[in-house]
Amino acid sequence: MQNKKICFIGAGNMSRAIIGGLIKSGYSASLITATNPSLPKLDALAADYGINTSQDNVPSASAADVIVLSVKPQLMQAVCESLAGVVDDKLLITIAAGIPENRYHDYFGKQVKLIRTMPNTPMQLGLGMTGLYAPAGMPDEDKAFAESLMRACGDIVWVNEESGIDKVIALAGSSPAYFFLFIEAMIEAGVEMGLPEADARTLAQQAAVGAAAMVKQNPGLTPAELRANVTSKGGTTAEAIATFEAGGLRTLVKDAMGNCIKRAEEMA
Ligand code: NAP
Repeated sequence: MQNKKICFIGAGNMSRAIIGGLIKSGYSASLITATNPSLPKLDALAADYGINTSQDNVPSASAADVIVLSVKPQLMQAVCESLAGVVDDKLLITIAAGIPENRYHDYFGKQVKLIRTMPNTPMQLGLGMTGLYAPAGMPDEDKAFAESLMRACGDIVWVNEESGIDKVIALAGSSPAYFFLFIEAMIEAGVEMGLPEADARTLAQQAAVGAAAMVKQNPGLTPAELRANVTSKGGTTAEAIATFEAGGLRTLVKDAMGNCIKRAEEMA
């Protein structure tokens, strides 16, 4: 990745995750600045990663080559308006949910060079998944930089249409919580069956980690084939799978993801 000065506006959970990934990937801490209104998160980032910090957005953004907009969506307009005088033709990368690309031009009061991204929280472990969208005409160099920034914290996909970002939310941005829910339900069932909670958690979480690794490390096999491989006819797994199918798990998943997208569209 090119050595550009990056300024993160907002030093919350997602910035911390991305900064952690960048540092782990060998990016120079001296090229990274994070800004935040309050000090504790900045102090923690400086202590943990040795990056530069500031409570003042404008000079930090002004000194950067790339600005990562990482505040909550409801604060984005005010933050962009305050930075309008210093963005020049810098690359802007937003991680905010729900704000379409064209609205940023209104917020800044001019055309800006902006790439939309949708990361997820496993970025903090380097296991993130980010969807990126760049409007037509975005220079390849900027696309490559945004891609490598997110790749430092996991995997990426580009979407050709901006509406693809909402699909990324349904499949990756929000989906860690779906898996948390599934693991939570398994633990609850295990405890009801009489297992100690700690054991139920160990069993469920390790099965989830192992299953995800098997999907990832066997690209030649579909998840359906992997499932078939562990489902003997008339056996225990077959009984459990038949119960999920009879309960409409697939329809439930489709409905949940559809409603997730609907909500993302409503928020735009
Ligand atoms: P967060 O932890 O609340 O971080 C936002 C940070 O912005 C806070 O530290 C906040 O500081 C700071 N801030 C508030 N006003 C500011 C200002 N005027 N200038 C600079 N910083 C300011 O939220 P997050 O979870 O990291 O989310 C950040 C963005 O990522 C959101 O737009 C969200 O839509 C997007 N996103 C989140 C996830 C997720 O799973 N969390 C996934 C994908 C995308 P104080 O706390 O001190 O007020």
